[in-house]
Amino acid sequence: MNTLSRRSLLRGRWSRPAPAQRPPWAIDEQSFIDGCTRCHECIEHCESGVLISGPGGFPAIDFQRAECTFCRKCAEVCPQPVFDLQQARPWTLTASIQGHCLTQKGVECRACQDACEPYAIRFTPHVSGIAKPVLDPSRCTGCGACVGNCPVGAVDVVPGQQPLPQEAALPESVLPNQVLPNQVLPNNEQKTSLTPGNVP
Ligand code: SF4
Ligand code: SF4
Ligand code: SF4
Repeated sequence: MNTLSRRSLLRGRWSRPAPAQRPPWAIDEQSFIDGCTRCHECIEHCESGVLISGPGGFPAIDFQRAECTFCRKCAEVCPQPVFDLQQARPWTLTASIQGHCLTQKGVECRACQDACEPYAIRFTPHVSGIAKPVLDPSRCTGCGACVGNCPVGAVDVVPGQQPLPQEAALPESVLPNQVLPNQVLPNNEQKTSLTPGNVP
């Protein structure tokens, strides 16, 4: 059972807000709720607009509005110790493609793949002639760009499906447009690695 901390009670919070996805690099849920003053500095500085005032006025991620670019602004402007930028990865979220994906109904669609910069969604041939999306969790950063791009809301981003290998998660969280070393693109073209020093 969830119990309210003494700090929450002293601050006049008598009920726990409904669970929500917190910003990247947020500390554990209970400590976050205890420490966040709901000043909304993070929301005001969020460059993509993916952060909203969620249940109880606490900041929450809404992938229907936008994606997270991992710009770090939320963590950097927060005056409270509720973020930890030393964490190995911003979060353990991955996309999950649901059964009502249009390709399951014989309709050609690749909108999720079009939105995915790390090339975490590939399409595999199917006997029906309509290729189906397959997620590569090792490339997925949980950015949520695919969520809003899906015309039928068939992509969710869910916690902790599969831990990301550090070599995949870290560079993209620091530099969202970075292409991973030896990354093979859908057309089999191989990109060279970009580093912060040679990004165009
Ligand atoms: S900036 Fe920090 S304290 Fe303010 S609402 Fe965001 S998380 Fe809470
Ligand atoms: S990392 Fe940037 S885009 Fe993502 S929630 Fe924080 S401020 Fe918004
Ligand atoms: S959450 Fe981001 S990285 Fe993962 S599949 Fe969707 S667009 Fe790609």
